[in-house]
Amino acid sequence: MKTLPRVETARHFINGEFTDAAGGGSFPTLNPATNQPITSVAAGTVEDIDRAVRAARAAFDHGPWPRMAPAERARALLRIAEGIDARVEEIARLECLDTGIPCSQIRHGQIPRAAENFRFFAQMATTVPNETFPVEGSFLNYTIRVPAGVAGLITPWNTPFMLETWKVAPCLAAGCVCILKPAEWAPLSAHLLAQIIQEADLPPGVFNVVHGYGESAGAPLVAHPGVQLISFTGETTTGREIMRNGAATLKRYSMELGGKSPVIVFADADLERALDATIAGVFTLNGERCTANSRLLVDRRIADDFTHRLIDRVARLAVGDPMDPATEVGPLIHPEHWDRVTGYIDAGLAEGAHLATGGRRPAHIPQGNYLEPAVFTSVRNEMRIAQEEIFGPVLVAIPFTDEAEALRLANDVRYGLAAYLWTGDVSRAHRLAQALEAGMVWTNSQNVRDLRTPFGGMKQSGIGREGGYYSFEFYMEYKTIHVATGTHRIPKMGKGDAPRASDFRKLNNG
Ligand code: NAD
Repeated sequence: MKTLPRVETARHFINGEFTDAAGGGSFPTLNPATNQPITSVAAGTVEDIDRAVRAARAAFDHGPWPRMAPAERARALLRIAEGIDARVEEIARLECLDTGIPCSQIRHGQIPRAAENFRFFAQMATTVPNETFPVEGSFLNYTIRVPAGVAGLITPWNTPFMLETWKVAPCLAAGCVCILKPAEWAPLSAHLLAQIIQEADLPPGVFNVVHGYGESAGAPLVAHPGVQLISFTGETTTGREIMRNGAATLKRYSMELGGKSPVIVFADADLERALDATIAGVFTLNGERCTANSRLLVDRRIADDFTHRLIDRVARLAVGDPMDPATEVGPLIHPEHWDRVTGYIDAGLAEGAHLATGGRRPAHIPQGNYLEPAVFTSVRNEMRIAQEEIFGPVLVAIPFTDEAEALRLANDVRYGLAAYLWTGDVSRAHRLAQALEAGMVWTNSQNVRDLRTPFGGMKQSGIGREGGYYSFEFYMEYKTIHVATGTHRIPKMGKGDAPRASDFRKLNNG
């Protein structure tokens, strides 16, 4: 794939129209392969957020979208999916240019999945189950679900297009309306998403985008009283800040945060498959992956041989131009992130770990944010490189002696997003999967996930789950409707009628 000749400015999308920032501000987005500006991006501020929230509120409070039959909304979502299908190459090229993620991974992984998100939630919206509770023949209680309101969707830069659709699709399918605040380091594919949604002809104000920095555009979105829901994906520290800022207006949150996920490899596993999965699980997406298996816990009986083979393979990963289909690892997103990741390389060395391969700028690529994929051995679990999320192509390897030690090491971290387990012993696989402190466990499998399953983390990796009906738990409100089907007795207060015990038996005590 070739670099795009010219990339248009990414503007806000508010009330169905593209618009500049109210204050006229903009900022550049950089090509991670060169750190040259690609184009400029509208710098959103509190005025832009307020304008977008007012448009969204009007669409939710008075517009057709939340009141439409789910099947009709589904048709609109399918038009968005078709719009994505029609522009796969364009989206993939732009996302590759903006993020440095290898184009092959975006083209064949992220973008088809984005279209799938719209198809999946369109279908799911037409099958939301409700419940009925007939009560002793004299009442009928039943639940309905209604869209919860205006949602602020705040997304990170690592797989921007896919993660944006992962939030936008269930949000719209549920009948909510939204303001998307894309990450400032990778905003360009959100601009394409807005174009696609504009072409899909949704009512104005249903989908809005405000670009900008976290502090100047994200924070006012979180604090805005017109917004009820915040679905956030990003760093744990940002999640905490958002919860503090939204407290005054009592937001409902979905928090998909950081991770430091273990891959545990036992001697009885299919070691060739375990090796393939370990490498792919941490070095795809340039290691900038929330569910990356960034801690290898390996059975001491095979540790030397397994890590030796691992190091050999990692040293041969193809690092280079992300547009080249043969590239396996591209440049990191931003010079600041390169500094952060290489800071961890220095920290590992300072703490006494052994850098077995990588961790330096590749000699043949002097510019851009390239980093040779790194493996540390002689690592202790209490080291910073084993405890903190690096979010780059860095794997730490730690041997264990028995199952109990493997479990202790795996859980001895503040995160709990994912865990991966390789063993030939089916009982151990289930035993450990149940004991691991992780929202998602993959056994003898790489990270393949059906959209119906709940996605999310335990501990400091998040709050709540999205995916399948779990997304609708977030984007919808339950309403319980109580209907009397007969003429039950009602207490006759103020009529001098002595109360009866049965008058109060089933009264709501709330
Ligand atoms: P980040 O927290 O720096 O930024 C995420 C988004 O939050 C950006 O849009 C940013 O502008 C915005 N933001 C920053 N400060 C804000 C504030 N005060 N108020 C409102 N919005 C604010 O994260 P990042 O560096 O973009 O992404 C990397 C992180 O995302 C990693 O920790 C990674 O694990 C996590 N992540 C998690 C998942 C998951 O599903 N659990 C998926 C992908 C990435």
